[in-house]
Amino acid sequence: MSAELHHIITGQKLRPEQVAERTVAIHLELLERSSYLKVPNFHIIHPQDLELLFDAYDAAFFQGAVRRAVGNAPLRFALSKRLTSAGGKTKRTRTRATGALSYELSVSSTILFNSFEEGDHRAIVACGLECRDRLEAVQRIMEHEIIHLIELLVWNKSKCSASRFQAITRNFFGHKAHTHSLITPRETAYVKHGIRSGSTVTFVLDGKQHVGVVNRVTRRATVLIEDPQGVRYTNGKHYFKCYVPVELLTVVGGIARGS
Ligand SMILES: [Zn+2]
Repeated sequence: MSAELHHIITGQKLRPEQVAERTVAIHLELLERSSYLKVPNFHIIHPQDLELLFDAYDAAFFQGAVRRAVGNAPLRFALSKRLTSAGGKTKRTRTRATGALSYELSVSSTILFNSFEEGDHRAIVACGLECRDRLEAVQRIMEHEIIHLIELLVWNKSKCSASRFQAITRNFFGHKAHTHSLITPRETAYVKHGIRSGSTVTFVLDGKQHVGVVNRVTRRATVLIEDPQGVRYTNGKHYFKCYVPVELLTVVGGIARGS
């Protein structure tokens, strides 16, 4: 357990103006220092940007104590395409053989790039705060994830639905919630294309027209096509499973699930 980090996280009380001042400074600092991210509504982001952001937060809010607590353990930053509903994720891994710890902090690029598009149908809120651009959203996600990392370093456990986590994020970053409302691919599929789980859809694959039922929507839709040679599902029918970009689907019927 890191005594220094414990002291900072439990002993510091920030005023809302201090929080605002520091987070705005970090916003500007990133735009200035990043080799990739040049505008607040960027179209390119690199894992290096996450590291820059992390170190900026560590310096401005925790006097560098997070890095010191991580010590020599590897700390990796990643952009994840596979996170399609969470905005980010903090993971600690212990190697079986040696017991060595490593950490990984990832941010969902899928959700980031799916939000803040021209003509978005609604406002984007992360951690209970409205975000005006992608960089603000990444900042909110980083603020959330850095507290996960700090809790792991100090208390060995972290849970964002718990009151301790929420008290810390409220104090340090003014967060009002531990969730986000960035636009997930699932929401876009429904709002823009009318497609959701249970929709009957049609699409062309290899020149052949297929009809199926949408089972799940993540980055792509999982469509089940009835076929006697497919896998048996719990409803007794046999299906082939296809992953299809939502844009290629046309809805031909309403919700078929349960029928
Ligand atoms: Zn969380």
